Amino acid sequence: MRHINIAIDGPAGAGKSTVAKAVAKALNILYLDTGAMYRAVALKAIRQGIDPNDAERVKPMLKTTRISVKNEAGVQHTLLDGEDVSAFIRTQEVSKGASDIGVIPEVRLMLVHEQQRIAAGTDLVMEGRDIGSYVIPDSPCKFFITASSLERAKRRLKQLQESGKDEGRSIERLKQEIESRDYTDAHRAFAPLIQTEDAVLIDTTDMTIDQAVEAVIKRVQKVYSIGGER
Ligand code: C5P
Repeated sequence: MRHINIAIDGPAGAGKSTVAKAVAKALNILYLDTGAMYRAVALKAIRQGIDPNDAERVKPMLKTTRISVKNEAGVQHTLLDGEDVSAFIRTQEVSKGASDIGVIPEVRLMLVHEQQRIAAGTDLVMEGRDIGSYVIPDSPCKFFITASSLERAKRRLKQLQESGKDEGRSIERLKQEIESRDYTDAHRAFAPLIQTEDAVLIDTTDMTIDQAVEAVIKRVQKVYSIGGER
């Protein structure tokens, strides 16, 4: 039997991760956060003093870089050369670095290879920017989750404030950072962020997470002819 491979794409802060995690939990299948893999590569570059934009220095670094993931009790741990770096990849510096390093085709090819290997072996919800268009284009179940950039900036500010990490950032500054990351993601030459024709669009600007999760699950059940329980 072919595995269930659900593709969830969309810009930063649209609620993709929350929805993808909830769907994976409800269906009892693996959740794969591909952004964390780009973040781990960016972290390595930053630690080595390499500018993530500097393809000529990043490429040789890849030869000795191994990114893998493990899942423990539904939580993804991202490993950089065997070290669990999950706690170090959520800073603004790494977010920007991931977006920059993701422009380099060699980085993408390395990570996509690992993502495809995982998808071929298990039922999963895979979340990223190029999942439906490039990583698992044959998936019969694709979603594009988005929200306005203002709404996404508001959510991000709330998150940062709750964890005491807002560093006095304004909503305007966050909106700018989000739009700049969107632009890089959507305009890179290789595997850019796009909504494929066969992806179901979910705009969460005026939706609750529960509504978005329900919409995704309904569609998955229809496509794969499965009930609520697996
Ligand atoms: O999803 P997240 O915000 O953690 O992703 C961080 C960055 O990694 C994104 O801004 C994007 O540039 C890059 N990325 C990507 N392709 C993916 C997932 C993430 O280029 N499939």
